[in-house]
Amino acid sequence: MQMIPFDKRDGYIWIDGLYKKWNDSKVHVLNHGLHYGSCVFEGIRIYDGKIFKLDEHIKRLYFSAKLLDLEIPYKVNDIKDIIIELTKKQRVKNGYIRPVAWRGSEKMAISAKDASTHIAIATWTWPSYFSPDKILEGIRLTISDWVRPSPNSAPTNSKAAGLYMICSLSKHQAESKGYDDALMLDYRGYIAEATGANIFFIKKNKLYTPLPDCFLDGITRKSVIDIAKSLKINIEEKHYKPDFLEDCEEVFLTGTAVEITPVNSIDNYTFTVGETTKTLIKEFKKLVKL
Ligand code: PMP
Repeated sequence: MQMIPFDKRDGYIWIDGLYKKWNDSKVHVLNHGLHYGSCVFEGIRIYDGKIFKLDEHIKRLYFSAKLLDLEIPYKVNDIKDIIIELTKKQRVKNGYIRPVAWRGSEKMAISAKDASTHIAIATWTWPSYFSPDKILEGIRLTISDWVRPSPNSAPTNSKAAGLYMICSLSKHQAESKGYDDALMLDYRGYIAEATGANIFFIKKNKLYTPLPDCFLDGITRKSVIDIAKSLKINIEEKHYKPDFLEDCEEVFLTGTAVEITPVNSIDNYTFTVGETTKTLIKEFKKLVKL
């Protein structure tokens, strides 16, 4: 199916206080966000008209902005109200919400601390990231040549657009080799995350997930940890080298886009879509509809 490009859709996008026609929602080519990576964003899901973890996502948007020295010129509650209004205006009941903030065009130079910060919000109807068949059988990952950087070479706990350069490179490389996604190690060689999702492992009914000390501590990751605790599943957060995968029984990814997606293999390591993963998926589906 041919996808309609994102700059050619119907409806409205909210930009800097105004609802602009979707096709007229443009920025100037000379803006700091585009040239120097001063841009942060969020990805939020809406299920049956209910926005999942809106507070947490907006809190993270402001946190990411602060890490990049961007000052969003709106109150948190105003942005939340606009998001709710926009989903109604766009009639999105099951979909995705994308707030994005970036530095403007006052200066085309590395230093642009006093330049304006802009913010836009778009929303669209969006079902699953991977097809239902793929989810049932589990996706195939390969370990990327690219690694997550150290926290003193990038603001690794932000959702900064610039950090996604490594993710796109990794995912393109994986897809060109026939895989669904890439698993990235960190700068120390520990397992970090996939290109847009966190990762969990199951061995003998125990859940394991890498400590998020140089990558995004996902909101879905935290929800899954809470669900696991409520189900009295033991959980461990530590650093794991790739040989940890040797005797893993089940593996899955978590993220706003991928929700909980089982992993069938990582290079030569293979896993099953087992009962623990299925239970967590069932409980997560209940949680998002609450
Ligand atoms: N890591 C990366 C690189 C991501 O892009 C995402 C998706 N936002 C995640 C992890 C998972 O975060 P969340 O569960 O908050 O969507």
